[in-house]
Amino acid sequence: MPWLRGEATETAVPKHEPATFERLNPWYYSDAPATVRPLLDLARRQSSFDEVQGGLTEGNALFEARRCLSCGNCFECDNCYGVCPDNAVIKLGPGWRFQFNYDYCKGCGLCAAECPCGAIDMVDETV
Ligand code: SF4
Ligand code: SF4
Repeated sequence: MPWLRGEATETAVPKHEPATFERLNPWYYSDAPATVRPLLDLARRQSSFDEVQGGLTEGNALFEARRCLSCGNCFECDNCYGVCPDNAVIKLGPGWRFQFNYDYCKGCGLCAAECPCGAIDMVDETV
């Protein structure tokens, strides 16, 4: 945190609108069965103060975290990069997401339609 080091804080980047369910393409995400948490059997519940329902293991917790649909936030799936017919999507490298070259973009909207998490907004051009 810059302010803990006595440095000036960066200006907060304005947040985008939340992506509603209608903007998601859930068929891109796989189904996954619910994690089963261990339960203490009845006899042991009556004879101890042990937790009745066990927690998740580290592996299970990481698995559950991967259910995140990343609504409205690019997770670098490369879909837009792959579907753009005009090579208008430029890859900036891992962690840096993508840039759009508006000189090449014809506004077909394929990238926005195929983005799994609704991270792309189509905005009317102003001339
Ligand atoms: S709107 Fe069409 S042309 Fe423009 S970046 Fe998206 S897919 Fe490519
Ligand atoms: S903007 Fe959407 S389609 Fe493009 S890489 Fe990010 S998540 Fe995938």
